[in-house]
Amino acid sequence: MLIREFISETNKNKMISDLLKYYKVGSVKVKQKSMKDHAHYNVDTGTLELSTRYKTIKNRQIKEFLITILHEIYHAMDAKKYGWKKFKEMYEYEMNLQIAKGKHQYKDNKYEINAENFGQKNWSKWKRKFKKEGLI
Ligand SMILES: [Zn+2]
Repeated sequence: MLIREFISETNKNKMISDLLKYYKVGSVKVKQKSMKDHAHYNVDTGTLELSTRYKTIKNRQIKEFLITILHEIYHAMDAKKYGWKKFKEMYEYEMNLQIAKGKHQYKDNKYEINAENFGQKNWSKWKRKFKKEGLI
């Protein structure tokens, strides 16, 4: 029995582009970057920056990987909905509001909470779909 431990780069990129298209943010560019976080949506450039630690994904990282991508896609959807400049202002306002309330600028940030909930809610159906398609 053959157990594939790693997801190929091609399949990984196919999953990302399928997700971007499905959520109608297909114009988002994807870039691998050495960074502390797993991923970051750069609202100024419209780029989904993905940590080089995801250069190859292991099967056991699939859940975390999908949640991360969906989380960043949610930010891209917000940026599209409001316009990126407006969204950036709204996001910064929210950060400052949380700080002023003595709360955490990210953990208590409504845009972060919504993005995380979106990832948590949707990752498993995508995992099933990608599995069916033989991508993972
Ligand atoms: Zn986020």
